[in-house]
Amino acid sequence: MNSNEKTGETFVELKGLVKNYRLGQTVVSALRGVDLELHRGEFTAVIGASGSGKSTLLNMIGCIDNPDSGSIKFDGVEITQLSDDAKSHLRNQKIGFIFQSFNLIPVLNVEENVELPLLINHSISPIERSERVAAAIADVGLSSFMKNRPDQLSGGQRQRVAIARALAGNPDLVLADEPTANLDSTNSGKIIDLMLELNTRRKVTFLFSTHDANLMNRVSRIVNIQDGVIRV
Ligand code: ADP
Ligand code: MG
Repeated sequence: MNSNEKTGETFVELKGLVKNYRLGQTVVSALRGVDLELHRGEFTAVIGASGSGKSTLLNMIGCIDNPDSGSIKFDGVEITQLSDDAKSHLRNQKIGFIFQSFNLIPVLNVEENVELPLLINHSISPIERSERVAAAIADVGLSSFMKNRPDQLSGGQRQRVAIARALAGNPDLVLADEPTANLDSTNSGKIIDLMLELNTRRKVTFLFSTHDANLMNRVSRIVNIQDGVIRV
């Protein structure tokens, strides 16, 4: 059985997560003791004012940055104890990222952008790589745009490319930091439809941060963060 098929069980567990940023003499407390459990298959939004710690929270779960203290269990494994190499491996194998500003490489076409994260993973053969890339691009409805560069696409299409790039690695978890913030409401709606469909069909767990009321109305769970603490 594919591990993605086990829905409902605890998948990510955060306990007492603390993250401070030092800016010269001052210390900014971005996370002040966050406890949170995510379950497999969930479609969850983290909401909160600008500066409340949403991006920091996603970056900690995604092994992009390290907490000062606290525990992060990913699929039962304590990731704060892993070496940098092991963290990179986990990030590459199990986690996909989608960013507010899409973060595509302007000189690469759609196919090359989606392929890029797979190139670091040497266990994937070139044939499998091109199959995965084509399947992910087909899943987001952009098969006829494979050879186009990002500047030849609309904002909504660019975010679709970013979603395909996140999916091509067959992640268990997609972390999406304000994924619809730079889109108009029509495109935002379409992107939400697409992510919900992928959540259902590919059984990918999604965790967003958002301000978008369209998105908040469509998620199965909302987590409220305020000044670095989860409010219930
Ligand atoms: P949100 O995504 O909810 O807007 P962030 O997680 O980006 O919030 O930021 C939380 C707090 O941490 C803010 O006060 C922000 O200014 C601060 N912060 C975030 N990243 C850094 C950084 N790299 N260096 C210093 N301060 C940071
Ligand atoms: Mg943010």
